[in-house]
Amino acid sequence: MTDNLRLRNMAIEGELKIVSEVINRLQNDFQHSFTVETDLEEVSVILNEVADRMMDNYPYFDTNYAGQMLKPPHPVSRLAYMLAMYFNPNNHALDGGRASSQMEKEAVAKIAEMFGWTVHLGHLTGGGTMANMEALWVAKKEHPDRMVVASSMAHYTHQRISDVLGIKFQSIRTDQLGRMSAQGLEQVLTSNDVGTVVVTLGTTGTGSIDPLSEIIELQQKYSFRIHIDAAYGGYFGLADNLDPHASEQFNLIHHADSIVIDPHKHGLQPYGCGCILFKDPKMGAHYKHDSPYTYFSSAELHLGEISLECSRPGAAAVALWATLQMFPLEKNGKFSAGLESCIKAARKLSVFIKSDARFQLVMEPELDIVVWAPTGNSLNEISKVSNSIFEKAAKADVHLALIKIPKNLLSEDWSHVKKDQEYVTCLRSCLMKFEHINWVDDIWSVIQATMP
Ligand SMILES: *Cc1c(COP(=O)(O)O)cnc(C)c1O
Repeated sequence: MTDNLRLRNMAIEGELKIVSEVINRLQNDFQHSFTVETDLEEVSVILNEVADRMMDNYPYFDTNYAGQMLKPPHPVSRLAYMLAMYFNPNNHALDGGRASSQMEKEAVAKIAEMFGWTVHLGHLTGGGTMANMEALWVAKKEHPDRMVVASSMAHYTHQRISDVLGIKFQSIRTDQLGRMSAQGLEQVLTSNDVGTVVVTLGTTGTGSIDPLSEIIELQQKYSFRIHIDAAYGGYFGLADNLDPHASEQFNLIHHADSIVIDPHKHGLQPYGCGCILFKDPKMGAHYKHDSPYTYFSSAELHLGEISLECSRPGAAAVALWATLQMFPLEKNGKFSAGLESCIKAARKLSVFIKSDARFQLVMEPELDIVVWAPTGNSLNEISKVSNSIFEKAAKADVHLALIKIPKNLLSEDWSHVKKDQEYVTCLRSCLMKFEHINWVDDIWSVIQATMP
């Protein structure tokens, strides 16, 4: 075993020791026992089977995993989740999770505050898809016959959710930086009745930031609601090293009517933690229903009264609350410093890519997602080499991701490349781990070694 691995194993033992001590204390003070009679030998056999199955994964938690949007939860979050699981609270109704519902309200209020909202309506969801679905559902309630639009680089979920909800949807073209084209939006606004514009602050593919400032100007003229999908990028408003364009848009985020952010993307949470926020608490009226089964315990707000999902894991709220104790959502804090280091890591990798004639950037990263490709004569050839870099890097234990970029998004730098197909397959790295900055040199060496 390497020293490194031995140290990490000791850290895990330390983590589990804390949970075990806290659970013992909790059982004593609570005067109820979590113990159920079970055959621990059988459990151990099964857990080992599970462990064998889990090895069929990429090492997402490793710093040399530099591919998809995957980031391990922080130990404080993982352990708080585990602790809460002994109660397994349900944040649908206060009857099912008094403490965890209160913790959800506090955690969500802190996220709203980060966006500059002292008053809000909001709650956690299973993820960004459910959160966006609630936003578009309220959009439909507010403007039953009006259209929803989002950029062609927005998450595909908006089009699909619009279909589920029976809302007319149109996609708006993007510029070569992957941002919604304000001119493209205005063309659609002049000839259609648009009720809600989805503005993505941090697209999933390239981390691009839509021009919220220009969209707010169009709102004066055409009057529509603004929904911000910041599932990925939402926390980056805390970073002090954004480029001027990104910084300007994040400073305007409070103008939105609704915002989605995914604590399970950049917020150090395990999966199952999205968040929807509405600026106007009156939006709660759309959720009004009378459940015959629940809501008997108090006149206080039950989260199920303002949420489309019914049963939800209280443990997700406990984990988020615990994480926010350790990583408050403030500028110049340790959480914002982590986000800043992700941006630095992306810029560092971009500089390496630009310095080597065998590679080219597709666009400058606005956040921490780097999209790049090998140089070549045609889109077909470049796509093939991208695939081969992806595979060779994986063999050297550096894990990248692939992304198809439509040819119209390619800048003038690609003018000499033969456009023999509609898309070009490129490489994509989400450098989401706060430690990635220390690994960019190693990752780059492996990438270089994939090319002749
Ligand atoms: C990830 C993502 C979503 C979808 O969220 P899930 O949590 O995967 O359901 C929506 N929009 C954006 C911008 C995203 O990055």
